[in-house]
Amino acid sequence: MPENFETIREKLTKQNVLIVAVSKTKPAEEILRLYEKGQRDFGENRVQELKEKQELLPKDIRWHLIGHLQKNKVKYVAEWIHLIHSVDSLALLEEINRQAQKHNRKISCLLQVYIAKEETKFGLSEEELQNVLSSSTYKTLHHIQIEGLMGMATNTENMQVVKKEFEYLQYIFQEIKRKYFSDDATFRHLSMGMSSDYLLAIESGSTMVRIGSLLFGNRN
Ligand SMILES: *Cc1c(COP(=O)(O)O)cnc(C)c1O
Repeated sequence: MPENFETIREKLTKQNVLIVAVSKTKPAEEILRLYEKGQRDFGENRVQELKEKQELLPKDIRWHLIGHLQKNKVKYVAEWIHLIHSVDSLALLEEINRQAQKHNRKISCLLQVYIAKEETKFGLSEEELQNVLSSSTYKTLHHIQIEGLMGMATNTENMQVVKKEFEYLQYIFQEIKRKYFSDDATFRHLSMGMSSDYLLAIESGSTMVRIGSLLFGNRN
């Protein structure tokens, strides 16, 4: 593990940016090493792996689900998940609401926006986002809390492309806040930026960066 973790965190904390340490494929011992340095927010992209780690590791870890979520898997994380970054349909939101209700809680979610030029990435278009938030169904979901938006830039070395996508997402964030959450302070998070582009993301208004390889080393 690189010793630069504390340096990075100190810098980002000053800017009010939260680090979600992306621990996918990494064993529990490596997660514990960061935990011992005070890190509490960890992100995983697969439900099965997340569930196994949650059972094994300290209960005050705040687990973030950052990968694509299938409706039939919501039930495995509903009791304890801290934040779901990857909500990309109204149907998924309804299922999260249903499972949250069973546990008598509210689940915090981010809506994932499609900003990249890659078929493999998930997310809602700006129009789909508006359709979700203005639907009558959405207004009946009292066990979810939309806290902001998430996006992934195109996987490219071309930082001009990445910058444009981040700025576009920041623009959508402001628009959505103005139209649907103007008097709701809980809509405040913009989850964007990974190891290769987190500094650029912060310049574009990110409040939450999802950093894996920079903290844990490359994944095999
Ligand atoms: C793996 C992953 C990350 C972290 O990627 P790194 O390049 O290792 O920092 C961030 N977000 C999502 C959605 C991921 O799946």
